[in-house]
Amino acid sequence: MPLSTIDRADTFMFMTYRRSPITLVKGDGCRLWDEDGKEYIDFVGGIAVCNLGHSSPLVTNAVCEQSKKLIHVSNLFYTQPQTELAQVLIENSFAARVFFCNSGAEANEAAIKLARRYSREKFGPERHVIITMDNSFHGRTMATLSATGQEKIKKGFDPLLQGFRYVPFNDLKNLRSAIDGSVCAVLLEPIQGEGGVVLPDPDYLKGVREICREHAVLLILDEVQVGMGRTGRLFAHQHFGITPDIMTLAKALGNGLPIGAMLATEELADAFGPGSHASTFGGTPLITAGALAVVKSLLNDGWIENAREMGVYFKTGLTTLQGKYSIIRDVRGLGLLLGLELDRDVAGSANVCMERGFLINCVQERVLRFVPPLIIGREEIDLLINCLDVVFKEI
Ligand SMILES: *Cc1c(COP(=O)(O)O)cnc(C)c1O
Repeated sequence: MPLSTIDRADTFMFMTYRRSPITLVKGDGCRLWDEDGKEYIDFVGGIAVCNLGHSSPLVTNAVCEQSKKLIHVSNLFYTQPQTELAQVLIENSFAARVFFCNSGAEANEAAIKLARRYSREKFGPERHVIITMDNSFHGRTMATLSATGQEKIKKGFDPLLQGFRYVPFNDLKNLRSAIDGSVCAVLLEPIQGEGGVVLPDPDYLKGVREICREHAVLLILDEVQVGMGRTGRLFAHQHFGITPDIMTLAKALGNGLPIGAMLATEELADAFGPGSHASTFGGTPLITAGALAVVKSLLNDGWIENAREMGVYFKTGLTTLQGKYSIIRDVRGLGLLLGLELDRDVAGSANVCMERGFLINCVQERVLRFVPPLIIGREEIDLLINCLDVVFKEI
């Protein structure tokens, strides 16, 4: 017998991921199939990535057509798809400039570098500390894991990058007292994703914006997970009546094509002049042609409105379950970023759901996180709610 894909993967690759024991071979919309032909409804969406669903013809066609013309030339030259994507992002955001890279961590790296360089040039070398939040997640590179406020992400990797200071999320008093002349920026997720789907208190982000303004400190929003329509607005900060100085995007920007972006106001443009930062693969014609199709579809095809409507519908279903089962501690979230917290470990429940044909991701041990494609409909949500009803009844 030849060894299975799973056995070979576990033999040849680092075991950095705790993978579910299925091998997926095909996707269509909100559905996925494994190599045995078993069908799943996908509430993971590639971890908030596949907003237009799997095998989106728009994305597939854009990539196919571009791949016949030009895949890569380096950033020593101008290309059309990269320029068009930049223009669409700028015309639909607070920002004036964008830098393209390949991942969320790289977008945050770019933001950290830009904030430091701008502040150094404007205020001098003392001003370099970046305040981040407890329980945050900003990536796995050395700078971004140093920025991340979770010990488990940093364990064994010291010495970490210097110049980060951590405060509790949703705590303006602590933030205010953490600011001194050495602080150049505050970096946070508008809604904490990996941290367990934690929403900001109603006036928290306005307060953060105000504190940053008072001290001329830059506000960096990590919208890698919550951006691109996930919460029912193109960017999550639009719910809260503020704009940042810098914003990072990645996950859903390419619907699965590797792309990240760092956007900022014109004030910061000069700090990233020629030679200051670069990426070989950042914004290749191939990937930006795909991402352009994604962004245009999000803006024009009603999926962000669908995320808003389905988010309300889905949350109502989860809240009804909460009324039935006392093991459910909390239901929270915005748009199609929803969390259901249990009074116990959720991994077992997620596994039973998988056996029953539903893929769900767990965060922080006790939270089921639902981040399906934004194209999801009532029927699929009803099927999941019924499944959870059965699973919780059995506990
Ligand atoms: C996923 C994520 C990142 C890291 O993105 P990668 O593409 O995995 O590097 C950073 N910030 C947030 C908020 C994320 O959810």
